Amino acid sequence: MKLLEGKIALVTGASRGIGRAIATRFAEEGAHVAFTYLSSEEKAKALEEELKAMGSNAKAYRSDAGSFEEAEALAKAVLEDYKRIDVLVNNAGITRDNLLLRMNEEQWDQVLTTNLKSVFNLTKHAMRSMLKQREGSIINITSIVGLTGNAGQANYAASKSGVIGFTKSVAQEIGSRGIRCNAIAPGFIETEMTDKLGDNIKEALLAGIPMKRMGQANEVADVAVFLGSDMSTYVSGQTLSVCGAMYR
Ligand code: NAP
Repeated sequence: MKLLEGKIALVTGASRGIGRAIATRFAEEGAHVAFTYLSSEEKAKALEEELKAMGSNAKAYRSDAGSFEEAEALAKAVLEDYKRIDVLVNNAGITRDNLLLRMNEEQWDQVLTTNLKSVFNLTKHAMRSMLKQREGSIINITSIVGLTGNAGQANYAASKSGVIGFTKSVAQEIGSRGIRCNAIAPGFIETEMTDKLGDNIKEALLAGIPMKRMGQANEVADVAVFLGSDMSTYVSGQTLSVCGAMYR
């Protein structure tokens, strides 16, 4: 039997990168995958077709993760379409890097809204279905930077540390209702988010990774499969790093 056979999963920001890899691995493991995108409509439609061809009852929804109203409408639409949500993956995220001296209010607000408020938005709305079911797994994608901080990313690091605090709190609030809540902290993973870093920054980052390579989105997705599945029924309130020993 596949690890996520018949489970209904909702993954935010799955048109590219880590979210896409999670949606694909989930479908490989037998999940029906509802997923969101913001602007990459063609890529989202292509993924929907790809997942359907794998036997997943997949559907792409355009929804801005940072909007409370859109998250509410999304949860409602997914529940109308699928009747339940077993696994929620809050993955959508952005960077707007700058040294604090130069960081403007917009860069701060955009990152905190997309990376942190989004997790509140959808967890709150999707949790209702899990509370009724008395089971569910919530997986929040944070970052190693949320544990270590990083010069030039005060906004991003603050949002990702916030996700860890949120994860631990929610795990304590709803553990008694059979719902688990964990975070995954990827290190330096090859996606469009890291493609845009300059070569000198990439070299400096690589030098600090004991495994001496960037991670692949699939390697994060495998950990999401573990946390979404019944292989982790007593794991909750944790942050699992996927970082090639970058953070020790
Ligand atoms: P990516 O390649 O830039 O992809 C980001 C995804 O998020 C896209 O599908 C994008 O959708 C979606 N998205 C962005 N803003 C959104 C919004 N407001 N509403 C809904 N969807 C939105 O990034 P990635 O590297 O895969 O990162 C995924 C997650 O992992 C993020 O939370 C990131 O912080 C975290 N992470 C990444 C790394 C890394 O090294 N790559 C390391 C640690 C943590 P559209 O394409 O439609 O815009």
